[in-house]
Amino acid sequence: MTKYIYAFSEGSQAMKDLLGGKGANLAEMKRLGLPVPDGFTITTEACIEYLKHGSTLSNELKEELHNQLAAFSERTGKAFSSNENLLLVSVRSGAKISMPGMMDTILNLGLNDENVEKLADKTGDARFAYDCYRRLLQMFGQVVYGIPMNAFDQYFDKYKEEHGYEVDADIPAEVLKEISDRFKEIYVEEVYKPFPQEPLKQLTEAVEAVFKSWDNDRARVYRDLNDIPHDIGTAVNVQEMVFGNSGDRSGTGLAFTRNPVTGENKLFGEYLLNAQGEDVVAGIRTPKEIATLDSQMPDVYQEFVDVTEKLETHYKDMQDIEFTIENANLYILQTRNGKRTAKAAMKIAVDLVDEGVITKDEALTKVDVKSIDTLLHPAFEEKALEAAEAISEAGLPASPGASTGKVVFSAEDAKTQAEQGEKVILMRPETSPEDIEGMVASEAIVTTHGGMTSHAAVVARGMGKCCVTGCSNLNIDTENKVVNYHGKEIHEGDVISVDGSTGNIYLGEIETTSAEHSEEFDRFMQWAEEAARLGVRMNAETPADIQAGYQFDASGIGLVRTEHMFFGAERLVQMRRFILASSKEERVDALNEIRKYQTEDFEEIFRLSNGRPTIVRLLDPPLHEFLPKSEEEIQIVSNQLDVQPDVLKKRLNDLHEVNPMLGHRGCRLAVTYPELAEMQAEAIIGSVMRLQAEGIESKPEIMIPLVSTVEEFKTLKDTIQTTISELEERENKTVNYLIGTMIETPRACLIAGQLAQESEFFSFGTNDLTQLTYGFSRDDAGKFISEYINRDLLTIDPFQTLDVDGVGQLIKTAVEQAKASNPQIKIGVCGELGGDPKSIHFFNDLAIDYVSCSPFRVPGAILAAAQSQVESERLVGANK
Ligand code: PEP
Ligand code: MG
Repeated sequence: MTKYIYAFSEGSQAMKDLLGGKGANLAEMKRLGLPVPDGFTITTEACIEYLKHGSTLSNELKEELHNQLAAFSERTGKAFSSNENLLLVSVRSGAKISMPGMMDTILNLGLNDENVEKLADKTGDARFAYDCYRRLLQMFGQVVYGIPMNAFDQYFDKYKEEHGYEVDADIPAEVLKEISDRFKEIYVEEVYKPFPQEPLKQLTEAVEAVFKSWDNDRARVYRDLNDIPHDIGTAVNVQEMVFGNSGDRSGTGLAFTRNPVTGENKLFGEYLLNAQGEDVVAGIRTPKEIATLDSQMPDVYQEFVDVTEKLETHYKDMQDIEFTIENANLYILQTRNGKRTAKAAMKIAVDLVDEGVITKDEALTKVDVKSIDTLLHPAFEEKALEAAEAISEAGLPASPGASTGKVVFSAEDAKTQAEQGEKVILMRPETSPEDIEGMVASEAIVTTHGGMTSHAAVVARGMGKCCVTGCSNLNIDTENKVVNYHGKEIHEGDVISVDGSTGNIYLGEIETTSAEHSEEFDRFMQWAEEAARLGVRMNAETPADIQAGYQFDASGIGLVRTEHMFFGAERLVQMRRFILASSKEERVDALNEIRKYQTEDFEEIFRLSNGRPTIVRLLDPPLHEFLPKSEEEIQIVSNQLDVQPDVLKKRLNDLHEVNPMLGHRGCRLAVTYPELAEMQAEAIIGSVMRLQAEGIESKPEIMIPLVSTVEEFKTLKDTIQTTISELEERENKTVNYLIGTMIETPRACLIAGQLAQESEFFSFGTNDLTQLTYGFSRDDAGKFISEYINRDLLTIDPFQTLDVDGVGQLIKTAVEQAKASNPQIKIGVCGELGGDPKSIHFFNDLAIDYVSCSPFRVPGAILAAAQSQVESERLVGANK
């Protein structure tokens, strides 16, 4: 018989798959002898079974639950039915991978009309007993019966306001009893059934609700966003309650062992006395900094500090710890590796290496590749910032970044407007898990309530999204869509700028500058480069991009798209002369002009590359991309080129293609116009010769695009070689260069062995290869791919992440064939997938030499390459 429930004392850290992260860590903390309230965990397997088969818990599971409760009662001396020692429990979800705010918690479970009185008598504190009860009614109602939290909150807040209670702790017992009675009526009004009085019924319904919540929309969105599989289920932790709301010697809080924003090695957290559960993160009362506890309860504080140190050493990582104090006794309710900003992740990883806690390889696995992006993001330009008008000087810098956008007041509006291409800033009193999609869609998030550990702060940090919380001087009125501050107003659609690094907010748009490098960043990236097997080059052609890529330590240029160099007005005229020419002489004439520009551009590129390998690709796109479209443009071009508009139109008509992506493009251009390849080869090698004269070394690699036959490649290779030989002879100089091909048609993959005999290098163009393998137009597929993904017809967008089963297999076949027929051949990947972390894992396992991506993706690609290598070496080690 499968065992579905484990007491904390039966589990360990290693049982995460079965017990979920929270359950496994609770068990581990028990093993470490830390003060953890007793409890048990219902496994993820039980959840998977439930979701597969049932709408109620199986008899098998119910029976096990009974037995576990009996054993639990024995251990704690408490029971649901006991008058003297009443058992109350918390019920919390806990998946293998932490999903903050995604799943739900119920506290004080077991209370009912009868035993709440007994609890009041026993503790001599009726206020406490009824405070627990009204909280249970609220949480249970929301989590299990889906009653909107607002239904309770509105009544509670109104009552407080009408009766002048400033804080919850001021509300006396009889009033809390009255509120509880009203809450029970809300059940009947909202869901036509009463609150279940039987504790066991409460427990089974709560367990079912947690199981079901695994499949709710916001959990799915979070999993999609974080690449968490949908089929691993959640565990449920049932734990004896300890009460942070039982007076002024009690409290609740959470702390990170290091600062999750900056990475500083200093305890960072918040707590509230006489409070329970979500009070700290809900932002209703302003929590105190953790260090203050030292003066309020020095012994408890010292014990807590000792626990945090023990946990960090044990887990070898920064911990995020939840605790409760009950009558001056400390209890630890949760520990997990803390979410952190990219900046903090890097600092913590580097510090842990310096402190001798972890190795460099381990450090590399502690920074999420996706988060690297945020380090490279711009900040506001200093001068522009000085001139800007601040609207909130008092917000908390919850998650760094600098963003500008139009104000919206609901997650829905954020989503809709973002879909229409607007950049939006979401402003809310506080956020809740329902807002997740709106948060994803926004450039930044601003809240009035909540501290550094509020939902908004934690989730935004996880997403690497700019966020400012605790702006208490802003009154955000979501109903009337207006923010009031210092007698002024901001309305929906107004543009504001948010600085997540300082907590300031400004009116209007502010210019930004690129990100600065920290010392930790450089050291960390150095380790990543040392660990990575794959090289990382950049796709770039402008000097600014190339400089950025080399600053990030790109090992060369993997793709210069020469067509990007023709868009300047003067160049375009010459390009158009070339395309519209009616004879070879006219064409060559125009190309002679273009050669001058190209030689200058290549000279700049090779100068910046300074001896690093640089791939220049021959012209690739269909030629009509360079031609005028509107009547007005046609008129202008006919004047510029001195041809009649009719003649021009006829030529445009001749060039029209039904399927330009499958038409006269790629190497086919140079096959039909060899003079194009001649001009480009001459410009490339000519520029190298000029630099030779200055003593600057270059490594040109000339690449032929969209090849599908060996003959195409050989013809063009011959043209290029002949051109270069003639140039060398004329100039009396020699240049070392390579000629290679892109592999971006399925046919090229299948004949890779033959192509490799002719070609000195390959570069996979995964954009075209994906397009041609699926038959999905890369320019139009966006219209249906999201629907395919929503309906589970595709699990990924294959233009963003490699389709391992199809495109991946073509690449694998091609690499194997190529290396077998030409072991010297160098192989790279220069499509978009070259910068995608998941795809990089696949490429690392093949005999591919490098990937190439846009400059700002270079650090992420280096880290992904390093992580793949560390992981595959670990697996090799483990299998020895
Ligand atoms: C490709 O097809 O993957 C590629 C790099 O070329 P382009 O995107 O320029 O077609
Ligand atoms: Mg291509």
